[in-house]
Amino acid sequence: MQTVVQELWNKCLRIIREDISEQNFTTWFAPIVPIKFHNDTLTIQVPSQFFYEWLEENYVSVFRKAIDQVIGKNGMLEYSIVVDKGDRKNPPITFNLPNSASSSSNAIAQHVIQRNPFQFKDLDSLELDSYLIPKYTFDKFIEGDCNRLGRAAGLAVANKPGLTSFNPLMIYGGVGLGKTHLIQAIGNQIKNQFPEKFVLYVSTEKFTNQFVNAIRNNSIETFTNFYLQVDVLIIDDVQFLSGKEKTQETFFNIFNHLHQSGKQIILSSDRAPRDLAGMEDRLLSRFKWGLTADLQQPDFETRIAIIQKKLQDDGIHINIDVLEYLAHSIQTNVRELEGVIISLMAQASLTRKEIDLELAKSTLKSIVNDQEKELSVDNILDVVTHHFDVNLETLQGKCRKKENVFPRQVAMYMLKELTNLPLKSIGYHFGGRDHSTVIHAVQSISEAMVIDKTVEKTVRKLFNRFNIAQN
Ligand code: ADP
Ligand code: MG
Repeated sequence: MQTVVQELWNKCLRIIREDISEQNFTTWFAPIVPIKFHNDTLTIQVPSQFFYEWLEENYVSVFRKAIDQVIGKNGMLEYSIVVDKGDRKNPPITFNLPNSASSSSNAIAQHVIQRNPFQFKDLDSLELDSYLIPKYTFDKFIEGDCNRLGRAAGLAVANKPGLTSFNPLMIYGGVGLGKTHLIQAIGNQIKNQFPEKFVLYVSTEKFTNQFVNAIRNNSIETFTNFYLQVDVLIIDDVQFLSGKEKTQETFFNIFNHLHQSGKQIILSSDRAPRDLAGMEDRLLSRFKWGLTADLQQPDFETRIAIIQKKLQDDGIHINIDVLEYLAHSIQTNVRELEGVIISLMAQASLTRKEIDLELAKSTLKSIVNDQEKELSVDNILDVVTHHFDVNLETLQGKCRKKENVFPRQVAMYMLKELTNLPLKSIGYHFGGRDHSTVIHAVQSISEAMVIDKTVEKTVRKLFNRFNIAQN
């Protein structure tokens, strides 16, 4: 039997469905869960803040119409927004916000946060805080060929800290490939299963700073003793120990002590131990005692799975063509992939557009352009003057010698092709020449490129300096 609230909501859905496309319905309305109906107020649960904002931006009148018809003019709508999905022990955290089409007495300021998910502590005090970030879990760490060994070893360690032969466990890999996520996930899982264990996550940078402060304050012993209490020591980015002899020595002692007492050590590094320069041999050999596993760039399928997971966590559904486009376009690392997804969601809410292929393309293009800021007039002129070995004044001047005219025309051609500058502005950068001079230059170079292979090659080479394929 359906509950009253479900029945009411189904009626609303039938009305809403008439007003919007099937795809929008599936994306934005199917994931909504009706929670309760009380005092003419219908509370619906939405999967994320982003989702809520989107609905408020785009569907207020659709909601109003449905509420009017189903509940009546006094009907109100309230969102319950999931801000943290919770876990086995903790219920999800949600907070409630009125719909803006509801009565104005329901001010937004009334929202209640039921449980504060964040507790801040003084970062430098040596209290028993693990410095683990709850969102980094195994559940959110997508498995692929690129990380299978590291992930499996991480899970093994998490289930039996200090008791496997993976001690230390050393995870290495390039930037943005998930090292911090994985070693944090191990810490979180251990904390979950063995609450009595003292798990500590520390970046190598912080470890070094604490050590330097300890020297300054004459408190090396306190520093070392603190680390000797740890049951699971997670040290991120150990490549930063390189060249720091004193810190390495102290770390070596802590390492030995913990290892001998059966405590688990987990390390990350941006390169394999054999490639760590500036590191004492005895420390390096310790790193190799346990298991070393690398993280590689995710393959296509894994990238798809990662994007899907991220969007799912935000309660957003996108079509497979958009997914594939993104997975094909961003191949560097996961952090970059995430960055694009976030811009895409932001872009979608700003422009009130659906996340479709067109939006994905334009968002990606704007991000890429941002990274190539070097496409400025100055830089283009710089590339040309360097290549032809002329000075800037000559390039911009009036001298009609052939060896100066050609570079000048190439520079004009490049400005025309690579920037959105009007012809007049291009002329401006060459001592205020008029637009017909620029047109003439562009035509000359275009023709020369067809006739003369060396010209074509030169221009292509200059374009390549800006990472742009010439068409
Ligand atoms: P690193 O420490 O290697 O530079 P991070 O652990 O900070 O990389 O990862 C960068 C981002 O990519 C993080 O937000 C992380 O959650 C995400 N990420 C990396 N690998 C994965 C994966 N396999 N599944 C899901 N998210 C991932
Ligand atoms: Mg990291």
